[in-house]
Amino acid sequence: MIIVMKPGASREHIDRVMEKIQGFGYKPHPIFGTDKTVIGAIGDERGKARLESLLTCDGVENVVRILKPFKLASREFHPAPTVLNLGGVRIGEGSFTVMAGPCSVESEEQLLAIAHEVKKAGATILRGGAFKPRTSPYAFRGMEEDGLKLLALARQETGLKIVTEVMNPRDIDICMKYADMLQIGARNVQNFSLLTEVGRAKAPVLLKRGMATTIEELIMSAEYIMAEGNMEVVLCERGIRTFETATRNTFDISAVPVLKKLSHLPVITDPSHATGIWDLVAPMAKASLVAGADGIIVEVHNKPEEAFSDGPQSLKPATFAALMQELRKLAEIENKSM
Ligand code: PEP
Ligand code: MN
Repeated sequence: MIIVMKPGASREHIDRVMEKIQGFGYKPHPIFGTDKTVIGAIGDERGKARLESLLTCDGVENVVRILKPFKLASREFHPAPTVLNLGGVRIGEGSFTVMAGPCSVESEEQLLAIAHEVKKAGATILRGGAFKPRTSPYAFRGMEEDGLKLLALARQETGLKIVTEVMNPRDIDICMKYADMLQIGARNVQNFSLLTEVGRAKAPVLLKRGMATTIEELIMSAEYIMAEGNMEVVLCERGIRTFETATRNTFDISAVPVLKKLSHLPVITDPSHATGIWDLVAPMAKASLVAGADGIIVEVHNKPEEAFSDGPQSLKPATFAALMQELRKLAEIENKSM
């Protein structure tokens, strides 16, 4: 339920309503707007009659039911777009943020070379996995803390922010020590205990759509994180599994405008995992910008043929730089800063 306060309702009235919401066993989530304050009351639907009684409280204009199963993530609750600020790097409406880097952190030489290249081309966030989800237990599974240390070194050398995947609640603290944003991968999108823990960790989260999750299920996963008080969530369309075999996954590009309509959270795409083929990455990256995405996460490798993971979908630095130039032209037309 959303409790809409009257324009100019006093702080005392707002606090009183929040106390009552808490007293009914709900979590109050206020949004202080320039004109009005609205308070989300999140909890079990069964107590909604008690929340409706708040209509009689001073300063309350209306009590409205949120119809969607997701609440905090919904546009109904929070009409204005959410914009994240990662130490000066904006993610959200009005910007097109580019995260780029290797699939896996492999060595100091590899990571630093790529970091300098993507920085030079204009990326603002470096991606790189230190904990890798692999289909085979015999495949390279990441450098773990040594990889995280290299990411931190790359940040120090280039000023790029860091996004890296966390697969297990026990690794959250260590990932936060070295990174600016935690990635929840496609395979963990419905790992509800991991979602709850990253919610409690209060670190910005990049939440990837699973290969078999619906748009609603993706937003419900964001809701898990937000229900713990962490509102800094970015949604990522990275392709879904269909009967089509020409590409690694099927890029669901209409998920971008659909997600933006349903939720206020920033939406980015991952054209690398969505297609699995390097020369499809640029057209899908450009399509993402025009479809309204707030950014992309792209795999770049200086020697794709030697990459420990995802070489076939990785761009070489020169191809990435050329893509960035084309994206800048489109960003200008679409009124997005890059
Ligand atoms: C990745 O970013 O390297 C990755 C494993 O992505 P996804 O979880 O989308 O498959
Ligand atoms: Mn990858």
